[in-house]
Amino acid sequence: MHFDTLALRATHQPDTTTGAVVPPIHLSTTYARNEANELPANYIYTRTNNPTREALEKALAVLEGGAIGMAFGSGQAATMTLLQALRPGDHVLVSTDAYFGTPALLEQVFHPWGLTYTRVDLSDLSAVQASIHENTRLIWCETPSNPRLTIQDLAAISEMAHAVGALCVCDNTWATPVIQRPLSIGCDVVMHSTTKYLSGHSDVLGGALIFKEDNDFTQRVRQIQGLSGAVPSPFDCWLVSRGIKTLSVRVRAQSATAQRIAEFLDGHPAVEIVHYPGLSHHPDRALIDRQMSGTGAMLSVRVKGGAAEALQFIGKLKLLIRATSLGGVESLIEHRASAEGPNSTSPVNLLRISVGLEHPDDLIDDLRQALDWIINPANKAA
Ligand SMILES: *Cc1c(COP(=O)(O)O)cnc(C)c1O
Repeated sequence: MHFDTLALRATHQPDTTTGAVVPPIHLSTTYARNEANELPANYIYTRTNNPTREALEKALAVLEGGAIGMAFGSGQAATMTLLQALRPGDHVLVSTDAYFGTPALLEQVFHPWGLTYTRVDLSDLSAVQASIHENTRLIWCETPSNPRLTIQDLAAISEMAHAVGALCVCDNTWATPVIQRPLSIGCDVVMHSTTKYLSGHSDVLGGALIFKEDNDFTQRVRQIQGLSGAVPSPFDCWLVSRGIKTLSVRVRAQSATAQRIAEFLDGHPAVEIVHYPGLSHHPDRALIDRQMSGTGAMLSVRVKGGAAEALQFIGKLKLLIRATSLGGVESLIEHRASAEGPNSTSPVNLLRISVGLEHPDDLIDDLRQALDWIINPANKAA
């Protein structure tokens, strides 16, 4: 079956008692036993398992082509739970260009707890090889990367990880399974912030892990999920399942608009460079064509000048919303350096754009008037 059909079918298990086409939301935290003290189904208590969460977890596994899916209360809760399955003394490799919170978790929570880690440019394979130690247990990829949209070679990195018995994890939040299937090219685990494209409407916080195999490590993560309880509410699970039904049409429409916006920005005299996998001059062109079946709806633009010009530009926008996060139906733009604060490694002239479902002409008109404004000599002194 094609991905669109899979996404719809995976989230539709008509209710067997009522026939309801849209699955109900099971809010009960506890499940009754019969006279013989047996549970009629496998449910006992919602922290450990819940039918609405289980439906989402099955859908997640189908989307990414994995054996097991697990849902969490946020993307960070998913990352946290996976890292908790490692042991003090284990070593993790994480990209220099990664979602800000991932290395922050390693540094602020897991480093004091005994996990060691190295930040490395994962798009440089010889640097990756040189950073792998005997105790490396996990390589954390995120491609396209945040916020520079560099591409990491998932097949090659997985091979390097497996050579030392380590796992290769891919944060697939930006690409989504619509355009990138990491488990099919060697990765062992996929992570998602379902807050973003999977739910798709900026109204639910959630995370996911999908495992290629059901093995001891996978069961250890399952155990921690149930014990520590960083799980989503049934209503949030239902919302993510609903979002998944339209994932593929949203991502394809948003990507087409992103392509048009990237090409427009690329030719504008106020722009220094556009980072977008769909542009012919992207340095990882060949890898993109091999690894991805689309180019996504995230892009970054660096304006000529510094932080002042970048902030002036976004200050003039009327349609794009100045806000953090991504993957919703409304276009968002953010100055990452100010969002990340003093430890940020994001260039000060960089703005990250999450392209939504507005008409592309309206978005381009808005971007054009704001860029024209900052290079108009009459406004220079302002
Ligand atoms: C948002 C995001 C996260 C963190 O997810 P939360 O749901 O905010 O906890 C992790 N990775 C990427 C790429 C993200 O965009």
